[in-house]
Amino acid sequence: MKRLISLAMALAVTMLLMLSVSGSGGRRVVTVVLNGETVTFDTPAYIENNRTMVPLRAVAEALGLEVTWDQTSATAWLSDGSWTPSLQGRTIVVDPGHGGSSTGAFYGGTAESRLNLAIAQALAEELRALGASVVMTRKTDVDVSLADRAAMANRLKADLFLSVHCNVSLTNSSARGVYTAYHGGSAQSRRAAELLKNAMVSAAGVPDMGAHDRSDLAVLRQTKMPAVLLECGFMSTPEELEQLRRPEHQRALAQGAAYGAALFLSAAS
Ligand SMILES: [Zn+2]
Repeated sequence: MKRLISLAMALAVTMLLMLSVSGSGGRRVVTVVLNGETVTFDTPAYIENNRTMVPLRAVAEALGLEVTWDQTSATAWLSDGSWTPSLQGRTIVVDPGHGGSSTGAFYGGTAESRLNLAIAQALAEELRALGASVVMTRKTDVDVSLADRAAMANRLKADLFLSVHCNVSLTNSSARGVYTAYHGGSAQSRRAAELLKNAMVSAAGVPDMGAHDRSDLAVLRQTKMPAVLLECGFMSTPEELEQLRRPEHQRALAQGAAYGAALFLSAAS
């Protein structure tokens, strides 16, 4: 982290960062110009006690850093990719949703079960690259019961259970983005669901569809460790389905999810 901070500082110093001040009511609003381009903020930068208060995300993203936010611990992780948290010694069960006779959603000739498997395989690779030992509930297009998926994770005493799915909207034909689900009875699962969703949104550049209490889902109810169901995008939206089929997009989603998982487990107490 120290290395990252010094890198960010070096970047900030070498880039032309110009702050100018204009009056606005009680607070002085600050305009930030980075390399000649004005940085846009959703809430304006301002001066307080002779310090310039600038929204972190907008500046970090303008500097090319990825930002992941954890509401519970009020932590913002900034990364330029040169630092990654470790999953050494952790066991993670990756569960590609559906399979075999259960295709899940089916749009444009693509079965959800196949998309889930492709994304889950990329996720397993990314998690292993961070040091985790990963077990998949299925590696091919076969039927596995929901009870067996949860039982496998419980038997292994896994640190985290991640179920990979793709979404459908019957009411909004332009719905896009990542949606995660957790069991409302587990505060840790909720925290993991928010962290993974935030990291996936950031890594894949897709809309944030929120983290939701879905205690009705069997795999979330029956697993004894923190568990998150990832809805990676909407198959019912043709443009997003096109994206979901692309290996580079699957990889970006997987990298985000793995990074979120590693942040969750490295900070979990
Ligand atoms: Zn599904």
